[in-house]
Amino acid sequence: MLKKLFKSFRLSLNRPHPRSTPEVLGSQQHSLRRADISRHAVSVVERLQNAGYQAYVVGGCVRDLLLDIEPKDFDVATSATPEQVRAEFRNARVIGRRFKLAHVHFGREIIEVATFRAHHPDDEEDDEDNHLAMRHESGRILRDNVYGTLEEDAQRRDFTINALYFDIAHDRILDYAHGVHDIRNHLVRLIGDPEQRYLEDPVRMLRAVRFAAKLDFDIEHHSAAPIRRLAPLLRDIPAPRLFDEVLKLFLSGYAEDTFELLLEYDLFAPLFPATAAALERNPDYVGRLVRHALANTDERIAQGKPVTPAFLFAALLWPALPSRALELQKRGMPPIPALQEAAHLVLTEQCRRTAIPKRFTLPAREIWDLQERLPRRQGKRADLLLEHPRFRAGYDFLLLREEAGEQTGGLGDWWTDYQEASDSERRSMIRALGGKDEAGSAPRKRRRPNRRRRGSGDVPERD
Ligand code: ATP
Ligand code: MG
Repeated sequence: MLKKLFKSFRLSLNRPHPRSTPEVLGSQQHSLRRADISRHAVSVVERLQNAGYQAYVVGGCVRDLLLDIEPKDFDVATSATPEQVRAEFRNARVIGRRFKLAHVHFGREIIEVATFRAHHPDDEEDDEDNHLAMRHESGRILRDNVYGTLEEDAQRRDFTINALYFDIAHDRILDYAHGVHDIRNHLVRLIGDPEQRYLEDPVRMLRAVRFAAKLDFDIEHHSAAPIRRLAPLLRDIPAPRLFDEVLKLFLSGYAEDTFELLLEYDLFAPLFPATAAALERNPDYVGRLVRHALANTDERIAQGKPVTPAFLFAALLWPALPSRALELQKRGMPPIPALQEAAHLVLTEQCRRTAIPKRFTLPAREIWDLQERLPRRQGKRADLLLEHPRFRAGYDFLLLREEAGEQTGGLGDWWTDYQEASDSERRSMIRALGGKDEAGSAPRKRRRPNRRRRGSGDVPERD
């Protein structure tokens, strides 16, 4: 009996049940200050309250502020419906089809205002129009908005650490799911039964990993346990939604740690099947290339430099090209067209998993194409390449390949020097190439009869 009691006590410690009355943390019990909240979020909350609605600052921003991290954006939860929100603000727009939300615009800042929602067994998070459209087209059952109470809204959220409501007027935090406890213990924990919550929305597995990497938290034991088994469910998620998730995974500044966790939980293969296969065949080289690419991305973000999904996808998919090209060559295709075709195939297949918009696939192909052109430097070619709009990305990509251990005969150093050289130094660098340049006039002539290559100084548009 005692043993049983103890067990249930331990269980309740391990898996705190969500509550219908919140734990209330007064101003002395938490470190969140009103001054930390975006003044636009404060004004949205106050105006809604003045109009008689309930309104709280909620979600990631409360979590991040408690951890001394600068929030990415500020979300508001309210009892007002999106239409009621729109009626209060001239600068509000209602977005979303399946789940309507209001966006209140203040210059470049958008405060996302969500109406309290009730949990629904097949509830899934949709907050962007393209996901909604996709769902719609893919024939999934669409439901109306199911609005709910504040308590219900807390239960339908994903993780305990994301279900904290900051009540600005009283300077207190409402904690329905022991989120503060989990923040203190550095735990990512699903609200409710983990397996059921992943089945409802498999993207929560990616979110678990993303928050664990970003916050340097552990995924709580019960929340971690089903992930490997359920990871294949990600294949059913609409590709546009997965594309957005992949960007959040790899372009939020914690890509390297995120990648390790994705591997650990078997979540990488459903996102990037061809890369995962290449990683299995050639773990050293592919692992180095991907890790270097992600580490560089994190570094750039930390330095406030821009990052582009095109470079990221070019890097993640590059290891999948050689085997594809080889298959085509075995079927009789000459090497260069085989590479072009492999590039096309790899991207097309990847788009079925993560719908990469053309504005990123085209530059990714240009980056790949430049890898073939960078060794050919004779005559005016080097100078023409320097003017290529994608030169910098292509050059960075070359350095990345070298970092991963690809042998290029010092090509990266040559281009580094060439960029810094004076005109006369450049001329002598070109002369010094002599016959060493892989693409002297002879190889070009040989390629000429190949119709596919004709006029394809730039990447042919195939997608
Ligand atoms: P960040 O903005 O830093 O990525 P966040 O926690 O704010 O983190 P958002 O994607 O902005 O994440 O979502 C806002 C809130 O909506 C979350 O904190 C969570 O409470 C809820 N939410 C988002 N996605 C889901 C989901 N798939 N299932 C349940 N609740 C979700
Ligand atoms: Mg957010």
